[in-house]
Amino acid sequence: MRTTVKSPHLPFGDQRTAPWYGKDIISIKQFSRSDLEYIFAVAHEMRVMVERVGTFDLLKGKILANLFYEPSTRTSSSFLAAMERLGGNVISISEVRYSSVAKGESLPDTVRTLECYADVIVIRHPELGSAAIAAQAARKPVINAGDGVGEHPTQALLDAFTIHEELGNLENLTVTMVGDLKYGRTVHSLSRLLSLYNAKLHYVSPEALRMPPEIIAELEAKGVSQTEHRTLDKALWETDVLYVTRVQRERFPSEDVYESVKGAYVINAEVMKGAKPRTIVMHPLPRVNEISVDFDDDPRAAYFRQMEYGLYVRMALLAMVLGKA
Ligand code: ASP
Repeated sequence: MRTTVKSPHLPFGDQRTAPWYGKDIISIKQFSRSDLEYIFAVAHEMRVMVERVGTFDLLKGKILANLFYEPSTRTSSSFLAAMERLGGNVISISEVRYSSVAKGESLPDTVRTLECYADVIVIRHPELGSAAIAAQAARKPVINAGDGVGEHPTQALLDAFTIHEELGNLENLTVTMVGDLKYGRTVHSLSRLLSLYNAKLHYVSPEALRMPPEIIAELEAKGVSQTEHRTLDKALWETDVLYVTRVQRERFPSEDVYESVKGAYVINAEVMKGAKPRTIVMHPLPRVNEISVDFDDDPRAAYFRQMEYGLYVRMALLAMVLGKA
C-alpha cells in the first residue's frame, strides 16, 4: 500500500493539495482523529445534499470499478449508489466467474486492467492482505471493501459516523462487541478506530471466536480498556453501543465447529431490557439470527439507519480520493 499520492490524472486542474487525494484506503490504521472529523463533516454535507437534491455532479466524468470476489449487498450497492449520486459511473464486476479471473488472471493483472478504464477501484476479496496487493499494483486509488478476515475500513468509518450522528460524539463510550470477533473483519477495524476515542471495549464471544490476540495487544499498547466475556450480562448494563456480528460461517475450517458456536448470542426485546434507554444496537449486516426481528421497531435498533449512513460516508470517501472534497 502506498499512502503517497498516486499518479495524478487531473483533467480539471491540479487537485493535489486536497487531503486524501490519490490515496489508497486499505486499513483503519491510516486514519487519525482529524481525518475522521473531516470525513464526518464531508459525509454530513453529502447527507444534506442527497436530502436536498438527490444527485449532483461532483464526480461527473469519473468512473469507479467495483470489483467483488465475495458476496456483498450493502457495500457493493452503496458504493455504486454513492458514485451515481455524485454523477459518476460504475463498472461492476461481482460475478468474477464471468470475468478473466475465471481464466486464471492474477489479482494484480485484473487491477491493472481495470485502472485503464476507471479512476478508482473498490475491491473485496477473500484473502487477508489482498487489498494491499491490489493497491501495490495499481496507479489509481484502491479502496478495501473487505480483505478476508483482515479489515473492512469503510465499514468502520460508517460505523463511527453512525455513532457520531446517533449519540452526538464518540468520546469515552463503552462499546460492547458480540459474536464472531475472530473472523469478523468489521470489529477488527472498528476496535482500532475506537482506540482513538478513549473507548472502553467489551468483547463478548465464545472461546473459539475471541478477538485476535494481536489486536488486543495492539490496543493494549495504546492503553485501551478491553475486557473479554463469555456472556453478555456482565457488560450490557453499562454499554452505550452494542455492536452485534454474524458468525462468519464461510470462514470456518469445518461445519462442525460452526455448528458448535452458531446461535451463541441472540439479542431480542427481552435481552435489551437489561440495557440503557439510549444504548444503540448496531450490526454490519447481514444478520442471520443474532438479532431477533422483535427488536427491529425499538428506537435503539440503529442497524437499518446504519446502512443509510454508509451511503454518505462512501460518497465522502470517493470524493476525497478523487480530489473533490
Ligand atoms: N457485511 C460485513 C462484511 O462483509 C459483515 C458480514 O458479512 O457479516 O464483513
